[in-house]
Amino acid sequence: MIQIINSYGLHPTTQPDADGLYGEFGGKIGHPQLAKALAELEVGFHEIIKNDDFISEMKRLRETYVGRPSPIYHAKRLSEHCGGAQIYLKREDLNHTGAHKINHCLGEVLLAKKLGKTKVIAETGAGQHGVALATAAALMDVECEIHMGVVDIKKEHPNVSRMKILGAKLVPVSEGAGTLKEAVDSAFVAYLNDIENSMFAIGSVVGPAPYPEMVGYFQSVIGHEAREQFLATTGSLPNKVVACVGGGSNAMGMFSGFLDDETVEKIGVEPAGEGLDTPNHAATMTKGVKGEIQGFKCYVLLDDEGQPAQVHSIASGLDYPGVGPQHSYLKDSQLATYEAVTDEECLDAFMALSRLEGIIPALESSHAVAYAMKVAKDMSPQDTILVNLSGRGDKDIDYVLEKIKL
Ligand SMILES: *Cc1c(COP(=O)(O)O)cnc(C)c1O
Repeated sequence: MIQIINSYGLHPTTQPDADGLYGEFGGKIGHPQLAKALAELEVGFHEIIKNDDFISEMKRLRETYVGRPSPIYHAKRLSEHCGGAQIYLKREDLNHTGAHKINHCLGEVLLAKKLGKTKVIAETGAGQHGVALATAAALMDVECEIHMGVVDIKKEHPNVSRMKILGAKLVPVSEGAGTLKEAVDSAFVAYLNDIENSMFAIGSVVGPAPYPEMVGYFQSVIGHEAREQFLATTGSLPNKVVACVGGGSNAMGMFSGFLDDETVEKIGVEPAGEGLDTPNHAATMTKGVKGEIQGFKCYVLLDDEGQPAQVHSIASGLDYPGVGPQHSYLKDSQLATYEAVTDEECLDAFMALSRLEGIIPALESSHAVAYAMKVAKDMSPQDTILVNLSGRGDKDIDYVLEKIKL
Protein backbone atom coordinates (compact mmCIF):
# COMPACT_ATOMS: atom_id res chain seq x y z
CA MET A 1 0.00 0.00 0.00
CA ILE A 2 2.80 2.43 0.83
CA GLN A 3 4.32 1.91 -2.55
CA ILE A 4 0.95 2.29 -4.22
CA ILE A 5 0.46 5.69 -2.63
CA ASN A 6 3.94 6.95 -3.42
CA SER A 7 3.93 5.85 -7.04
CA TYR A 8 1.04 8.17 -7.85
CA GLY A 9 2.83 11.44 -8.59
CA LEU A 10 5.21 9.88 -11.07
CA HIS A 11 2.96 9.94 -14.10
CA PRO A 12 2.99 13.14 -16.18
CA THR A 13 -0.79 13.10 -16.41
CA THR A 14 -1.25 13.15 -12.66
CA GLN A 15 1.53 15.57 -11.80
CA PRO A 16 1.24 19.14 -13.08
CA ASP A 17 4.16 21.48 -13.81
CA ALA A 18 5.24 24.23 -11.43
CA ASP A 19 2.37 26.45 -12.62
CA GLY A 20 -0.15 23.72 -11.86
CA LEU A 21 -0.68 22.98 -15.55
CA TYR A 22 -1.45 19.71 -17.30
CA GLY A 23 -0.57 20.73 -20.83
CA GLU A 24 -2.56 23.95 -21.24
CA PHE A 25 -5.18 23.03 -18.60
CA GLY A 26 -5.39 23.74 -14.88
CA GLY A 27 -3.29 26.50 -13.33
CA LYS A 28 -3.83 28.73 -10.33
CA ILE A 29 -5.94 31.64 -11.47
CA GLY A 30 -7.48 33.87 -8.88
CA HIS A 31 -7.55 36.01 -5.86
CA PRO A 32 -4.12 37.35 -4.75
CA GLN A 33 -4.93 36.59 -1.12
CA LEU A 34 -5.50 33.02 -2.13
CA ALA A 35 -2.10 32.59 -3.76
CA LYS A 36 -0.30 32.40 -0.43
CA ALA A 37 -2.73 29.85 1.00
CA LEU A 38 -2.51 27.70 -2.13
CA ALA A 39 1.28 27.78 -2.01
CA GLU A 40 1.20 26.70 1.64
CA LEU A 41 -1.19 23.90 0.82
CA GLU A 42 0.93 22.72 -2.08
CA VAL A 43 4.11 22.56 -0.01
CA GLY A 44 2.26 20.86 2.86
CA PHE A 45 0.70 18.31 0.54
CA HIS A 46 3.97 17.37 -1.14
CA GLU A 47 5.72 17.04 2.20
CA ILE A 48 3.05 14.99 3.80
CA ILE A 49 2.79 12.32 1.12
CA LYS A 50 6.44 11.51 1.76
CA ASN A 51 5.83 11.19 5.50
CA ASP A 52 5.66 7.60 6.77
CA ASP A 53 3.35 8.48 9.68
CA PHE A 54 0.86 10.06 7.32
CA ILE A 55 1.00 7.11 4.94
CA SER A 56 0.42 4.55 7.68
CA GLU A 57 -2.40 6.64 9.20
CA MET A 58 -4.11 6.78 5.78
CA LYS A 59 -3.61 3.06 5.34
CA ARG A 60 -5.07 2.30 8.77
CA LEU A 61 -8.12 4.50 8.17
CA ARG A 62 -8.71 3.09 4.73
CA GLU A 63 -8.68 -0.47 6.03
CA THR A 64 -10.41 -0.12 9.38
CA TYR A 65 -12.71 2.86 8.85
CA VAL A 66 -13.64 3.00 5.16
CA GLY A 67 -13.52 -0.77 4.67
CA ARG A 68 -10.94 -0.85 1.87
CA PRO A 69 -10.03 -2.51 -0.34
CA SER A 70 -13.48 -2.35 -1.90
CA PRO A 71 -14.11 -5.58 -3.82
CA ILE A 72 -14.33 -6.19 -7.53
CA TYR A 73 -17.49 -8.02 -8.49
CA HIS A 74 -18.26 -9.93 -11.69
CA ALA A 75 -21.80 -8.87 -12.64
CA LYS A 76 -22.70 -12.14 -14.38
CA ARG A 77 -26.44 -11.64 -14.73
CA LEU A 78 -26.00 -8.11 -16.06
CA SER A 79 -23.38 -9.37 -18.53
CA GLU A 80 -25.67 -12.18 -19.70
CA HIS A 81 -28.52 -9.72 -20.05
CA CYS A 82 -26.42 -7.50 -22.35
CA GLY A 83 -25.04 -10.51 -24.25
CA GLY A 84 -21.41 -9.72 -24.92
CA ALA A 85 -18.47 -8.58 -22.79
CA GLN A 86 -18.13 -9.50 -19.12
CA ILE A 87 -18.93 -6.52 -16.88
CA TYR A 88 -17.08 -6.11 -13.58
CA LEU A 89 -17.84 -3.53 -10.90
CA LYS A 90 -15.39 -1.80 -8.57
CA ARG A 91 -17.59 -1.48 -5.50
CA GLU A 92 -16.91 2.04 -4.19
CA ASP A 93 -20.58 2.00 -3.16
CA LEU A 94 -19.56 -0.29 -0.28
CA ASN A 95 -17.30 2.32 1.33
CA HIS A 96 -18.36 3.83 4.64
CA THR A 97 -20.74 6.71 3.73
CA GLY A 98 -21.60 4.95 0.47
CA ALA A 99 -19.38 6.52 -2.17
CA HIS A 100 -15.85 7.33 -3.25
CA LYS A 101 -15.86 10.86 -1.76
CA ILE A 102 -14.72 9.62 1.64
CA ASN A 103 -11.35 8.73 0.02
CA HIS A 104 -10.35 12.35 -0.55
CA CYS A 105 -12.22 13.79 2.43
CA LEU A 106 -10.15 11.67 4.82
CA GLY A 107 -7.00 12.84 3.04
CA GLU A 108 -8.01 16.50 3.08
CA VAL A 109 -8.96 16.57 6.75
CA LEU A 110 -5.83 14.65 7.75
CA LEU A 111 -3.79 17.17 5.77
CA ALA A 112 -5.64 20.12 7.36
CA LYS A 113 -4.76 18.73 10.79
CA LYS A 114 -1.10 18.31 9.93
CA LEU A 115 -1.02 21.92 8.66
CA GLY A 116 -2.33 23.05 12.05
CA LYS A 117 -5.77 24.08 10.78
CA THR A 118 -8.73 23.81 13.14
CA LYS A 119 -11.49 24.06 10.58
CA VAL A 120 -12.44 22.82 7.11
CA ILE A 121 -14.80 24.83 4.90
CA ALA A 122 -16.58 23.57 1.79
CA GLU A 123 -19.55 24.00 -0.45
CA THR A 124 -21.91 21.20 -1.32
CA GLY A 125 -24.55 20.77 -4.02
CA ALA A 126 -26.48 17.58 -3.43
CA GLY A 127 -24.83 17.22 -0.04
CA GLN A 128 -22.66 14.20 -0.80
CA HIS A 129 -19.39 16.07 -0.38
CA GLY A 130 -20.75 17.80 2.71
CA VAL A 131 -21.63 14.51 4.36
CA ALA A 132 -18.29 12.88 3.54
CA LEU A 133 -16.38 15.90 4.81
CA ALA A 134 -18.50 16.17 7.97
CA THR A 135 -17.77 12.48 8.59
CA ALA A 136 -14.01 12.91 8.29
CA ALA A 137 -14.13 16.07 10.41
CA ALA A 138 -16.08 14.32 13.18
CA LEU A 139 -13.57 11.48 13.15
CA MET A 140 -10.57 13.78 13.41
CA ASP A 141 -12.03 16.44 15.70
CA VAL A 142 -11.83 19.31 13.22
CA GLU A 143 -14.58 21.95 12.87
CA CYS A 144 -16.58 21.66 9.66
CA GLU A 145 -18.53 24.45 7.95
CA ILE A 146 -20.65 23.57 4.91
CA HIS A 147 -22.20 26.16 2.61
CA MET A 148 -25.28 25.04 0.75
CA GLY A 149 -27.88 26.81 -1.40
CA VAL A 150 -31.36 27.11 0.13
CA VAL A 151 -32.92 25.37 -2.87
CA ASP A 152 -30.57 22.41 -2.43
CA ILE A 153 -31.21 22.34 1.32
CA LYS A 154 -34.91 21.77 0.65
CA LYS A 155 -34.23 19.15 -2.02
CA GLU A 156 -31.59 17.14 -0.21
CA HIS A 157 -33.13 16.87 3.19
CA PRO A 158 -31.61 13.54 4.35
CA ASN A 159 -28.08 14.77 3.63
CA VAL A 160 -28.77 18.01 5.50
CA SER A 161 -29.88 15.96 8.52
CA ARG A 162 -26.77 13.78 8.28
CA MET A 163 -24.46 16.79 8.27
CA LYS A 164 -26.22 18.27 11.30
CA ILE A 165 -26.06 15.00 13.22
CA LEU A 166 -22.36 14.70 12.40
CA GLY A 167 -21.78 18.10 13.97
CA ALA A 168 -21.15 20.26 10.90
CA LYS A 169 -22.20 23.91 10.84
CA LEU A 170 -24.55 24.42 7.91
CA VAL A 171 -24.58 27.86 6.26
CA PRO A 172 -27.68 28.34 4.04
CA VAL A 173 -27.00 30.49 0.98
CA SER A 174 -30.00 32.39 -0.42
CA GLU A 175 -28.27 34.57 -3.04
CA GLY A 176 -29.01 34.10 -6.74
CA ALA A 177 -30.45 30.73 -7.71
CA GLY A 178 -29.64 29.35 -4.25
CA THR A 179 -27.70 26.38 -5.61
CA LEU A 180 -24.13 25.16 -6.00
CA LYS A 181 -22.54 28.16 -7.69
CA GLU A 182 -23.69 30.60 -4.99
CA ALA A 183 -22.63 28.11 -2.31
CA VAL A 184 -19.11 28.07 -3.78
CA ASP A 185 -18.91 31.88 -3.68
CA SER A 186 -20.19 32.00 -0.12
CA ALA A 187 -17.81 29.29 1.12
CA PHE A 188 -14.95 31.07 -0.59
CA VAL A 189 -15.68 34.38 1.17
CA ALA A 190 -15.87 32.57 4.53
CA TYR A 191 -12.54 30.96 3.80
CA LEU A 192 -10.84 34.25 2.87
CA ASN A 193 -12.07 35.70 6.18
CA ASP A 194 -10.42 32.93 8.18
CA ILE A 195 -7.56 31.85 5.98
CA GLU A 196 -5.08 31.33 8.86
CA ASN A 197 -7.14 28.76 10.77
CA SER A 198 -9.07 27.04 8.03
CA MET A 199 -8.64 24.96 4.91
CA PHE A 200 -10.92 24.93 1.89
CA ALA A 201 -11.76 21.31 1.10
CA ILE A 202 -12.78 20.87 -2.52
CA GLY A 203 -15.06 18.00 -3.52
CA SER A 204 -13.57 16.92 -6.85
CA VAL A 205 -10.49 17.20 -9.08
CA VAL A 206 -11.33 20.85 -9.83
CA GLY A 207 -10.29 24.31 -8.66
CA PRO A 208 -6.84 25.89 -8.78
CA ALA A 209 -3.64 23.89 -8.17
CA PRO A 210 -2.89 21.95 -6.01
CA TYR A 211 -6.52 20.76 -5.62
CA PRO A 212 -6.84 18.63 -8.77
CA GLU A 213 -3.53 16.90 -8.05
CA MET A 214 -4.35 16.45 -4.37
CA VAL A 215 -7.86 15.08 -4.79
CA GLY A 216 -6.65 12.88 -7.66
CA TYR A 217 -3.89 11.53 -5.48
CA PHE A 218 -6.25 10.59 -2.65
CA GLN A 219 -8.63 8.93 -5.14
CA SER A 220 -5.89 7.02 -6.98
CA VAL A 221 -6.27 4.22 -4.45
CA ILE A 222 -9.31 3.12 -6.51
CA GLY A 223 -7.37 2.46 -9.69
CA HIS A 224 -4.32 0.93 -8.06
CA GLU A 225 -6.44 -1.49 -6.04
CA ALA A 226 -8.63 -2.25 -9.05
CA ARG A 227 -5.72 -3.09 -11.35
CA GLU A 228 -4.22 -5.50 -8.83
CA GLN A 229 -7.57 -7.10 -8.04
CA PHE A 230 -8.55 -7.44 -11.67
CA LEU A 231 -5.26 -9.14 -12.56
CA ALA A 232 -5.58 -11.48 -9.59
CA THR A 233 -9.20 -12.43 -10.47
CA THR A 234 -9.01 -12.76 -14.25
CA GLY A 235 -5.30 -13.09 -15.06
CA SER A 236 -5.41 -10.16 -17.45
CA LEU A 237 -6.27 -6.47 -17.67
CA PRO A 238 -9.72 -5.21 -18.68
CA ASN A 239 -10.30 -4.09 -22.28
CA LYS A 240 -12.11 -0.99 -21.07
CA VAL A 241 -12.38 0.89 -17.79
CA VAL A 242 -15.42 3.13 -17.45
CA ALA A 243 -16.34 5.81 -14.91
CA CYS A 244 -18.84 8.66 -14.73
CA VAL A 245 -17.52 12.21 -14.87
CA GLY A 246 -18.91 15.19 -12.99
CA GLY A 247 -15.83 17.08 -11.85
CA GLY A 248 -13.96 13.86 -12.52
CA SER A 249 -12.58 12.58 -9.20
CA ASN A 250 -13.82 9.00 -9.25
CA ALA A 251 -12.83 8.69 -12.91
CA MET A 252 -9.34 10.09 -12.24
CA GLY A 253 -9.01 7.70 -9.33
CA MET A 254 -9.87 4.76 -11.54
CA PHE A 255 -7.91 5.89 -14.63
CA SER A 256 -4.73 6.61 -12.69
CA GLY A 257 -4.25 2.88 -12.05
CA PHE A 258 -4.20 2.19 -15.78
CA LEU A 259 -2.39 5.17 -17.32
CA ASP A 260 0.64 3.10 -18.28
CA ASP A 261 -1.53 0.39 -19.85
CA GLU A 262 -2.02 1.38 -23.46
CA THR A 263 -4.20 -1.65 -24.17
CA VAL A 264 -6.75 -0.57 -21.59
CA GLU A 265 -9.21 1.89 -23.08
CA LYS A 266 -10.25 4.59 -20.60
CA ILE A 267 -13.73 6.05 -21.03
CA GLY A 268 -15.32 8.85 -19.00
CA VAL A 269 -19.12 9.08 -19.17
CA GLU A 270 -20.84 12.45 -18.97
CA PRO A 271 -24.53 13.30 -18.63
CA ALA A 272 -26.32 13.95 -21.93
CA GLY A 273 -29.36 14.84 -19.79
CA GLU A 274 -32.43 15.38 -21.93
CA GLY A 275 -30.30 15.15 -25.08
CA LEU A 276 -27.15 16.74 -26.51
CA ASP A 277 -29.23 18.82 -28.94
CA THR A 278 -31.15 20.41 -26.05
CA PRO A 279 -29.71 22.95 -23.57
CA ASN A 280 -30.45 20.51 -20.73
CA HIS A 281 -27.30 18.43 -20.36
CA ALA A 282 -23.90 18.68 -18.67
CA ALA A 283 -21.69 17.08 -21.35
CA THR A 284 -18.70 19.34 -20.85
CA MET A 285 -16.21 17.37 -22.91
CA THR A 286 -18.59 16.64 -25.78
CA LYS A 287 -20.10 20.10 -26.17
CA GLY A 288 -17.84 22.46 -24.20
CA VAL A 289 -15.11 24.88 -25.22
CA LYS A 290 -11.77 25.71 -23.63
CA GLY A 291 -12.37 28.29 -20.93
CA GLU A 292 -12.06 29.21 -17.30
CA ILE A 293 -14.06 28.33 -14.23
CA GLN A 294 -13.33 28.69 -10.50
CA GLY A 295 -9.63 29.39 -10.81
CA PHE A 296 -8.52 26.97 -13.52
CA LYS A 297 -8.65 26.27 -17.25
CA CYS A 298 -10.57 23.30 -18.65
CA TYR A 299 -13.35 22.39 -21.04
CA VAL A 300 -16.42 24.30 -19.95
CA LEU A 301 -20.03 24.87 -21.01
CA LEU A 302 -20.69 28.61 -21.35
CA ASP A 303 -23.94 30.57 -21.70
CA ASP A 304 -24.60 33.42 -24.15
CA GLU A 305 -22.79 35.88 -21.92
CA GLY A 306 -19.69 33.72 -21.71
CA GLN A 307 -20.38 32.67 -18.13
CA PRO A 308 -20.45 29.02 -16.94
CA ALA A 309 -23.84 27.72 -18.08
CA GLN A 310 -26.78 26.42 -16.02
CA VAL A 311 -26.45 22.71 -16.73
CA HIS A 312 -28.71 19.73 -16.14
CA SER A 313 -28.41 16.08 -15.20
CA ILE A 314 -30.74 13.66 -13.49
CA ALA A 315 -27.74 12.97 -11.24
CA SER A 316 -27.06 16.08 -9.18
CA GLY A 317 -23.43 15.01 -8.59
CA LEU A 318 -22.76 15.34 -12.32
CA ASP A 319 -24.30 18.72 -13.12
CA TYR A 320 -21.15 20.81 -13.21
CA PRO A 321 -20.36 23.03 -16.23
CA GLY A 322 -16.59 22.47 -15.97
CA VAL A 323 -14.40 19.38 -15.61
CA GLY A 324 -11.03 18.56 -14.04
CA PRO A 325 -7.91 19.74 -15.91
CA GLN A 326 -6.43 16.23 -15.97
CA HIS A 327 -9.44 15.02 -17.95
CA SER A 328 -9.22 17.97 -20.34
CA TYR A 329 -5.59 17.02 -20.91
CA LEU A 330 -6.35 13.29 -21.28
CA LYS A 331 -8.98 14.11 -23.91
CA ASP A 332 -6.71 16.33 -25.99
CA SER A 333 -3.83 13.85 -25.80
CA GLN A 334 -6.24 11.05 -26.75
CA LEU A 335 -5.25 9.05 -23.68
CA ALA A 336 -8.92 8.77 -22.71
CA THR A 337 -12.23 9.27 -24.49
CA TYR A 338 -15.46 10.82 -23.24
CA GLU A 339 -18.97 9.69 -24.12
CA ALA A 340 -22.39 10.84 -22.97
CA VAL A 341 -25.55 8.97 -21.92
CA THR A 342 -29.02 10.43 -21.38
CA ASP A 343 -31.17 10.64 -18.25
CA GLU A 344 -33.35 7.92 -19.73
CA GLU A 345 -30.47 5.52 -20.37
CA CYS A 346 -29.27 6.25 -16.85
CA LEU A 347 -32.64 5.30 -15.33
CA ASP A 348 -32.75 2.09 -17.38
CA ALA A 349 -29.30 1.12 -16.09
CA PHE A 350 -30.32 2.03 -12.53
CA MET A 351 -33.26 -0.39 -12.73
CA ALA A 352 -31.29 -3.09 -14.58
CA LEU A 353 -28.53 -3.27 -11.99
CA SER A 354 -31.09 -3.22 -9.17
CA ARG A 355 -33.20 -6.02 -10.64
CA LEU A 356 -30.45 -8.22 -12.11
CA GLU A 357 -27.81 -7.97 -9.40
CA GLY A 358 -29.56 -6.61 -6.31
CA ILE A 359 -27.32 -3.57 -6.34
CA ILE A 360 -28.99 -0.13 -6.26
CA PRO A 361 -26.45 2.24 -7.82
CA ALA A 362 -26.23 6.02 -7.44
CA LEU A 363 -27.72 7.86 -10.43
CA GLU A 364 -24.22 9.25 -11.06
CA SER A 365 -22.69 5.76 -11.24
CA SER A 366 -25.64 4.56 -13.34
CA HIS A 367 -24.24 6.65 -16.21
CA ALA A 368 -21.12 4.47 -16.29
CA VAL A 369 -23.23 1.31 -16.03
CA ALA A 370 -25.44 2.53 -18.90
CA TYR A 371 -22.46 3.09 -21.16
CA ALA A 372 -21.01 -0.33 -20.33
CA MET A 373 -24.35 -1.98 -21.10
CA LYS A 374 -24.49 -0.17 -24.44
CA VAL A 375 -21.04 -1.22 -25.66
CA ALA A 376 -20.91 -4.69 -24.05
CA LYS A 377 -23.25 -6.18 -26.60
CA ASP A 378 -20.89 -5.35 -29.47
CA MET A 379 -17.96 -7.06 -27.75
CA SER A 380 -17.10 -10.75 -27.41
CA PRO A 381 -17.78 -12.82 -24.24
CA GLN A 382 -14.02 -13.01 -23.64
CA ASP A 383 -13.77 -9.24 -23.47
CA THR A 384 -14.04 -7.38 -20.18
CA ILE A 385 -15.28 -4.00 -19.00
CA LEU A 386 -14.47 -2.67 -15.54
CA VAL A 387 -16.98 -0.10 -14.29
CA ASN A 388 -16.31 2.12 -11.32
CA LEU A 389 -19.49 1.97 -9.25
CA SER A 390 -18.80 5.29 -7.52
CA GLY A 391 -21.67 5.18 -5.04
CA ARG A 392 -24.87 3.59 -3.84
CA GLY A 393 -28.34 4.78 -4.75
CA ASP A 394 -30.13 5.01 -1.40
CA LYS A 395 -30.15 8.79 -1.75
CA ASP A 396 -31.93 8.51 -5.11
CA ILE A 397 -34.77 6.08 -4.42
CA ASP A 398 -37.58 8.61 -3.83
CA TYR A 399 -36.63 10.57 -6.92
CA VAL A 400 -36.52 7.46 -9.09
CA LEU A 401 -39.95 6.36 -7.88
CA GLU A 402 -41.33 9.73 -8.95
CA LYS A 403 -39.98 9.10 -12.46
CA ILE A 404 -40.83 5.40 -12.72
CA LYS A 405 -44.18 4.29 -11.34
CA LEU A 406 -43.89 0.81 -9.82
C1 LIG B 1 -20.15 13.33 -6.35
C2 LIG B 1 -20.35 12.05 -7.02
C3 LIG B 1 -19.90 11.82 -8.34
C4 LIG B 1 -19.31 12.89 -9.21
O1 LIG B 1 -18.08 13.41 -8.79
P1 LIG B 1 -16.72 13.09 -9.55
O2 LIG B 1 -15.78 14.07 -8.96
O3 LIG B 1 -16.93 13.31 -11.02
O4 LIG B 1 -16.36 11.69 -9.25
C5 LIG B 1 -20.06 10.56 -8.88
N1 LIG B 1 -20.63 9.56 -8.18
C6 LIG B 1 -21.08 9.73 -6.92
C7 LIG B 1 -21.71 8.58 -6.21
C8 LIG B 1 -20.95 10.99 -6.29
O5 LIG B 1 -21.41 11.14 -5.04
